[in-house]
Order: sequence, then structure tokens, then C-alpha cells
Amino acid sequence: MTTPDGGERPRVVGIIAAGGSGERLGADGPKAFVFLAGRPMVDWSHDVLAAVCDRVVVAVPAGYEDDGPDRIVGGVSRSASVRNAVVTAPEATVFVVHDAARPLIDHDLIERCVEPLQAFDGAVAAVRLTDTVKQADGAGRVMATLDRSTLWTVQTPQAFRAVALRAALEVDEALLASASDDASLVERAGGRVAIVEGHPSNLKITSPLDLAIAHRLIEEVPRGV
Ligand code: C5P
Repeated sequence: MTTPDGGERPRVVGIIAAGGSGERLGADGPKAFVFLAGRPMVDWSHDVLAAVCDRVVVAVPAGYEDDGPDRIVGGVSRSASVRNAVVTAPEATVFVVHDAARPLIDHDLIERCVEPLQAFDGAVAAVRLTDTVKQADGAGRVMATLDRSTLWTVQTPQAFRAVALRAALEVDEALLASASDDASLVERAGGRVAIVEGHPSNLKITSPLDLAIAHRLIEEVPRGV
């Protein structure tokens, strides 16, 4: 990987957020450990990040920390889990943060998210909206139809200059809990974040239907790193 500052080779630490309970999936255990095509969901993205990063830290629910290398206990929110992982990696100059709930990540997308760090504090994988987007009030009345040409739905991986992510995570627990991604915290701290066009197939597993689709995609498309 290239360096964000033109200096010595960056030390890239991958962080996998796998600390959630994943109740919407209706499984017995945490979502990241539900079996997908024969192995725990988290293992699919771990393989890909491990091929690209110098080290991968995985934030897991309490009780799962001794089942694999470089596992730490996550926090009460997703960003708290990421912060718990960040503090264990003082050597990092670049962080690549990824949700275990997106097992279909590929190597190329990670590389493309790291590249903009030459000029940006962060870069996020995202896809263009294909549906029409409306804004509604609490009663379900449409208030506006938004211009979708400027809108993106954001995924992980999200790559950051380590200095920017560390500073952005220095906020209280309530603010961490309200952040639906790490880039929003970097933006809030004044950081510049780039969009990197990802793939709709990098889907987020939330429901049993998503799990079934991911299973089919893994069977049909050989997954390389
Ligand atoms: O719940 P949701 O699917 O939005 O979570 C996104 C990712 O964040 C999941 O991979 C989940 O395991 C992780 N997470 C976490 N710590 C939490 C909550 C969620 O690492 N406290």
C-alpha cells in the first residue's frame, strides 16, 4: 500500500467491528458468529483484511475474546467497539474499519479506500441510490423528494489516517452511540472524507433473507482475497 504522507510505509491495522448482538437476525448467538457457508460470518472478512493489513484487531462480545488471535471486548455501541480496538494499536498509521456484518468484502475495495488517504483524512465505500428517496414526517406524510444524484448509501470498509480517527473518537459515550459510522465522527471533527464507489454485493447482513442471499453469492462467485 502507498503511504498517506509520502513517508515511510504505513502500518495498516484492520479493525473488524463484531461486537454486536445482532438480535434482528433472530439467531441464538451474536450475528458475527452465525455460520455462513460453513464458517462464522466474521471469518470471511477477517481473511480478506488479514491479506491486506499488517494486523487485524477484532472487537467481539464479552465471552468470545479468547477464541481467536487479536480479539478484544467491544463496547456498548459500534463506535465504542471501534475505539476499544483503536487503543490497542498505537503502531497504526492507517486504520481500515470494517463491519463483520459485511462478509462479502473484497481485497480491491480495501485498496481503493486506502488510496485517497494521500489527500483525505478518511475514505468510505459507498453505492449510488437507485430508488427514489423521500423525506417524511412522523405521521408518514411525504415532506420532500430528495435529489438522489448527490446521495450515496455508505458501507464499510472505511479507511482513515490513524491520527484523524483517534482524534475523532475522543468524544463521550452518547456521541459515540449516536454515530452510525466512524466517518461521521471524523467529519464532525473537521476531517475530509472521500467517497469510493463500492459494490451492491458488499451487502450488510441484517435479516435471514440477507443471510440467504450472502450464502448464494458465496456459492456462485468464488471468493478470492
Ligand atoms: O447492528 P449493526 O448490524 O448495525 O452493527 C454493525 C456492526 O457493528 C456489526 O458487525 C456488529 O457486530 C458491530 N457492533 C459492534 N459493537 C457493538 C454493536 C455493533 O462491534 N456494540
